[in-house]
Amino acid sequence: MRRLKKNYYLALFCCTVGILGIVRMANGESPATVKQPLPQPAHRHPIYSVPSFSGTFPDLQETHAESARQWGVKPVRNRIEAEKRKSELVFIGSNPFYKMDPGMNSSIPYLVPRAASALETIARNYLDSLHVKGIPLHKILVSSVLRTEEDVERLRRTNINASPESCHRYGTTFDIPYNRYHTVEPPHENRRAVQNDTLKWILAEVLRDVRENGLCHIKYEVKQGCFHITAR
Ligand SMILES: [Zn+2]
Repeated sequence: MRRLKKNYYLALFCCTVGILGIVRMANGESPATVKQPLPQPAHRHPIYSVPSFSGTFPDLQETHAESARQWGVKPVRNRIEAEKRKSELVFIGSNPFYKMDPGMNSSIPYLVPRAASALETIARNYLDSLHVKGIPLHKILVSSVLRTEEDVERLRRTNINASPESCHRYGTTFDIPYNRYHTVEPPHENRRAVQNDTLKWILAEVLRDVRENGLCHIKYEVKQGCFHITAR
């Protein structure tokens, strides 16, 4: 009697599995095409940030200027002259790793190859870092790149703190805002909002690592709300 009951349950189970399989195929789904969620990292890495932004990114103007003079172009007078100097400079445009700040003014989108490569390394590392920490993807923005002598003069008329010796004149230096990011989301999908503080903490970790590896000098700019970065 007990054996009969066991066989009955076994037959019932097989029937149920079979029927479910038929229903699934009728819906056009084979086991291989069942939608799977995007793979998430097995272990989410924690977010540590850095102990202090100013203390972790203390590089002063003179430190930046030394590398700018070593690796940069001769300062460019104006945009017309910049057109003639394109062999020394690389065009910087929005791409899968970073986005040009739509509000960028007072600079033109060119860097020396060394600085373009440092910017791309930072942008890629940032996306990697967001992924392993399980944070929705955001691209960094680039708010300032090469400034001509005329740009620097114009900036000095509106901002007495703007340095006439700006490293942005050499094409070695770029700015990444820390309070604004570009959310990466597929069309018709609203990603969950991520606090800018979280994004800033992760960016600070990435920048600390590349700076310690000797890629660049970094100054934390409180007034401009950005990291001022020079390739070295
Ligand atoms: Zn700057």
